[in-house]
Amino acid sequence: MTKQEVMQKAKELGVEFIHLQFTDLRGIMKNLSITIEQLDKALDGEIMFDGSSIDGFARIEESDMYLKPDLDTFVVFPWKPQTAREARLICDVYNPDNTPFAGCPRNILKKTIKKALHMGYTMNVGPECEFFLFEIGEDGTPTLKTNDDAGYFDLAPVDLGESARRDMVLTLKEMGFEIEASHHECAPGQHEIDFKYSDALKAADNIMTFKMVVRIIAQRHGLHATFMPKPIYGIAGSGMHINQSLFNGEKNAFDDPNGEYQLSDTAMHYIAGLIKHARGLTALTNPTINSYKRLVPGYEAPVNIAWSPKNRSPLIRIPAKRGSSTRVELRNPDPSANPYLALAGNLAAGLSGIEQKLMPPAPVSENVYDMTEVEKIEKEIGALPGTLLEAIEALKQDELLMDTLGEHARVKYIKGKLHEWNDYRTQVSKWELDQYLTSI
Ligand code: GLN
Ligand code: MG
Ligand code: MG
Ligand code: MG
Repeated sequence: MTKQEVMQKAKELGVEFIHLQFTDLRGIMKNLSITIEQLDKALDGEIMFDGSSIDGFARIEESDMYLKPDLDTFVVFPWKPQTAREARLICDVYNPDNTPFAGCPRNILKKTIKKALHMGYTMNVGPECEFFLFEIGEDGTPTLKTNDDAGYFDLAPVDLGESARRDMVLTLKEMGFEIEASHHECAPGQHEIDFKYSDALKAADNIMTFKMVVRIIAQRHGLHATFMPKPIYGIAGSGMHINQSLFNGEKNAFDDPNGEYQLSDTAMHYIAGLIKHARGLTALTNPTINSYKRLVPGYEAPVNIAWSPKNRSPLIRIPAKRGSSTRVELRNPDPSANPYLALAGNLAAGLSGIEQKLMPPAPVSENVYDMTEVEKIEKEIGALPGTLLEAIEALKQDELLMDTLGEHARVKYIKGKLHEWNDYRTQVSKWELDQYLTSI
């Protein structure tokens, strides 16, 4: 869309407020609201904000930041009143000297996308985002109670969760999403809504919008939506599988009818790149303490670094579809990830596999969960990090991913995550009290 088109559309639709949105390094959406009178100025990228108050952004001394809206992201919020309507624009953060700000995750992804373009590729991404819907207690805070006890693909009697999910799908469609599927997931109160793949930047924007919409619509149904990876011990957690492929113009570069597994060499190199960088990448795809409570055996979440043309237990699965739908599914990411950083990391890892013509180890067809340690060593199957600390240590060792983040973002990111780890590590948990308070 052009500036004139955005201005005209906003006027026609009776928009009064525009939310200028961007994402911080932790993956939290931030927003600055302006009135329609300021839109002209905003579209010229002249709206300034104080970056020092945003976590992981600038220092006080250099805190003036500019928001540059991406005009194609203009969309009106369908759940707001029909008069004095509200719209949003997703923005890139810029420095006062008109250079992209290095701490803006969207700029980091754009830089990696540019690298792919130089190599002749565009990345397409289809995420599968899972979440829980919980009841809200008398005091207005979320509980851990779900209002159904349905399971995978179950058709619960029309309950609150079902009708909330229906409303989410309709709202997302009104905002331009093409919804491919939505279903109840394995655990009670757990749902999944899948939208059509798109280029990596749009997919990351879509994930941010998706989470916002799901939270808002859940609230309107008296429910709390959470993207916390493992809210309840002993049942499945929520993942965000990342289906990804590279296109060379109109052609899927992973597809080769004559290749082994009907995959191209490019696909094999890409898989090898993901495998090589899997441990460091986990710090970006699984960035919270709680992420590692999900990555345990027994709940369809991966713990081993392996790939398979069909089996669902390893880190990487190749879904059966070929032709233009040929893709690689990375199964460890969870919805607490900053989608811009996670996709930048995935793409950088895959591209480096292509550049270096890496080959992956042999695929595994048996259930990796059932293998002995010796078998795993023989088959070169490593383990994903078991804690956030392990993942951050692996990230620090990974030169490619450190380069992808760049100096500013990596320092802030690692510092923030180590702080999170230390805060957690020094807490005394209920488990410890249950174990030791009376037994020792
Ligand atoms: N919830 C599972 C996970 O944690 C995935 C289940 C599925 O989509 N088959 O990744
Ligand atoms: Mg799915
Ligand atoms: Mg699923
Ligand atoms: Mg999947």
